[in-house]
Amino acid sequence: MDNIELNDTAQLRRAVLIGMCTLLGGLSLLLALINLVISPKWTLIGYVELFYALFSFSLAWQAYKHRHKFWQVNLYLYVLTAIVIYAVTLSETINSIVCWALILPTVFYLLLGKKLANIPTVILLTATTSTIINKYGLVLSPLFVNFVFSYLLVWVISHIYESNRAASEQKLQKLALQDPLTASFNRLALTRYFEQLHSSQTFKHLGAEQHLLILDIDFFKQVNDEFGHEAGDLVLQECANIISRIAGNQRTFRIGGEEFCVVIENKLKDEALSIAESIRTQVAQHQFNITQQKEINITVSIGLTQYQSGMALSNVLRQADQRLYRAKNAGRDQVIFDSEPLVSSA
Ligand code: GH3
Ligand code: MG
Ligand code: MG
Repeated sequence: MDNIELNDTAQLRRAVLIGMCTLLGGLSLLLALINLVISPKWTLIGYVELFYALFSFSLAWQAYKHRHKFWQVNLYLYVLTAIVIYAVTLSETINSIVCWALILPTVFYLLLGKKLANIPTVILLTATTSTIINKYGLVLSPLFVNFVFSYLLVWVISHIYESNRAASEQKLQKLALQDPLTASFNRLALTRYFEQLHSSQTFKHLGAEQHLLILDIDFFKQVNDEFGHEAGDLVLQECANIISRIAGNQRTFRIGGEEFCVVIENKLKDEALSIAESIRTQVAQHQFNITQQKEINITVSIGLTQYQSGMALSNVLRQADQRLYRAKNAGRDQVIFDSEPLVSSA
């Protein structure tokens, strides 16, 4: 579950890039062979094709190895667009070259996403229609009408497809990472958060000032037993709201039935303790309206731990959990950090 790859966009773009670069690289190589070896009339164009073939194969290889960069993809597509525009202006009849212009909007949308795809799509449309007008005059030639309308159709369909695909992926990510009851992030989201934190450059310079706490609602089963499961759900939702307000929604995770985890970044030990303590007191002071007439109070126990760069999430959680266990055994409604309880109201 933890290793689920949720970024379908990156996988789709990588696959399209590999396929496209390999095909175009093969075509360029073939054309280069014709122009340089078999019928060496246009050697300059032959060398350009050879260069483009090498560029295509090297980008396909980098994508295969997961090493390609977004700027390289942009460069590749803009060079391809420039080649198609150049070929359209060179061509006597334009007809066959227009096939290339028609497939490019789909490629732009697949590789660049809906915002960035608009730029090369507009450039290509403007350049191609200008060339057609230059060659055939301002009269509405069949080529002009057919090209403009089929290009617009491809553009609209690509836009709708990419918008829907991106929206579906966002919905899926939300479903996979968010708890529907409390809208807090879940355990899988915590794993991903940790992975991203560890891989980010800033984290490596932060030193030891990272903290994590696990919070468990005290005697929560009694809430369910006395007031019903719906009342329990309400308490969970309100509790999640209080924690998110203090620690931030992006750092609050529901990791079990009535257990939450909070990641406290870039805070000194005393600040982390005061955040944990603030969560504990604000929950304890809060009146939970479980029905219109009934208000109840609940308390929470918290285990807080400090961790360093490179520590496995499972170890950090284990350490926080041990402290939470001690908080429960020491009477609940308290935060445990080092060996001693920080505050005990029991
Ligand atoms: P302790 O102070 O030792 O933590 O006692 P507790 O009663 O909180 O702990 P226990 O593990 O015995 O009970 C947890 C309860 O949380 C049991 C389960 O029914 C309830 N629970 C788990 N998930 C949900 C949920 O989504 N909604 C509701 N209403 N209850 C839940
Ligand atoms: Mg529990
Ligand atoms: Mg509990």
